[in-house]
Amino acid sequence: MNVLLLGSGGREHALAWKLAQSNGLDTLYAAPGNPGIAQHATCVALNATDHAAVVAFVKDHAIGLVVVGPEAPLVDGLADSLRAEGIPVFGPSKAAAQLEGSKGFTKDLCRRADIPTAGYVRVNTLAEAQAALATTFGLPVVIKADGLAAGKGVTVAFTKAEAEGAITDLFSVSGAEVVIEEFLEGEEASLFVLTDGEALLPFGSAQDHKRVGDGDTGPNTGGMGAYSPARVLTPELEAQAIDRIVRPTVERLRAEGTPFSGVLYAGLMLTEQGPKLIEYNARFGDPECQVLMLRFQGDLLAVMLAVAEGRLAELPAPAFSDDPALTVVMAAAGYPGTPKAGGSIDAIDAAEATGAVVFQAGTKMQGEQLVASGGRVLAVTASAATVGEAQAAAYRAVDAIHFPDGFCRRDIGWREVAREAD
Ligand code: ATP
Repeated sequence: MNVLLLGSGGREHALAWKLAQSNGLDTLYAAPGNPGIAQHATCVALNATDHAAVVAFVKDHAIGLVVVGPEAPLVDGLADSLRAEGIPVFGPSKAAAQLEGSKGFTKDLCRRADIPTAGYVRVNTLAEAQAALATTFGLPVVIKADGLAAGKGVTVAFTKAEAEGAITDLFSVSGAEVVIEEFLEGEEASLFVLTDGEALLPFGSAQDHKRVGDGDTGPNTGGMGAYSPARVLTPELEAQAIDRIVRPTVERLRAEGTPFSGVLYAGLMLTEQGPKLIEYNARFGDPECQVLMLRFQGDLLAVMLAVAEGRLAELPAPAFSDDPALTVVMAAAGYPGTPKAGGSIDAIDAAEATGAVVFQAGTKMQGEQLVASGGRVLAVTASAATVGEAQAAAYRAVDAIHFPDGFCRRDIGWREVAREAD
């Protein structure tokens, strides 16, 4: 079967790497792809916002499955345009992708389905926001832009001034919609669950590292590293999260006529009262996907096709390696502000000779030279018997790479490494 993969990040390189190992794959196309993805796929220039062009490409190239990597095309309804033409697609409809596209939508759904999450109010004006801050919430308090903001629309405010600043910023744009939330205390973990709208198949857990600096300091990023599994999400807590959060979400969406098909990524806070939902994403995480793919031992194409065709109930539980995997993101200097473009990257071969897998994100070829072309540039990924050993292996590979304009955190996996040492 021919497959079209949409996206150009480290997540999509990991998906391409795994899809390329699938028995049923004939040709993998990627749009737009990147030089790493090009090792496994034919990269084509296709604009995912031009639905007619994507449909025409699919028909011309006898594509049997479209895999949508990032959230923006899902929220934009690309999956609906494909399904309307009878094309199997891995990724939810526009209506179901609201789980990621609108934080207010998800909070309201949680309220309707009695799903544990932080208390909240939705506000549409600065005055409403100020009133809510004055009457409903203490400190700290969490303030979120309603829509997609690439991880940059959230402020955890520890002072009144920070909270005021955040709402003033958000309402400086007309038509802003904002969610104000109770602050939840606990450790975060990400749970991935495949669903075709009816059946559920847990697909691993991970813990990411959002802050740019060691010790979880500095501004938020798209993610500086991750490891899988998140052992803090014990089998008991995972079962609770599925029973109380994920299953009621999937059932509610189906009952309301907007079933979710694809991968549900639940961002959880493990509180003293049990797991609570922080947010949903409607696609794999980046860089969580890189560690999940390293551990996943099944046939990714077969699994994604079963999701797309509503046959998930037929599949056995997916097999994952017991060995944890860990990925370290190498970013371009300046990230998450303006990243320095054009820095040369060498010796990826040397890094992979250590046994690691180097997934590419913001890279491009300049003549014969691989250079940086984005904020997050590489995801250097390794697995071993413990998270500590996987961490050591990943940093050995990082240290083999020559990327003088790049940087990375040196402590990815620190929580689990500390727990292992206990
Ligand atoms: P992402 O980049 O993960 O998609 P996002 O912009 O969609 O992020 P959230 O995941 O909702 O936003 O929030 C970002 C981070 O803010 C969370 O990972 C968590 O650390 C923190 N956070 C969000 N909501 C809460 C809350 N209610 N209590 C405590 N911390 C929170």
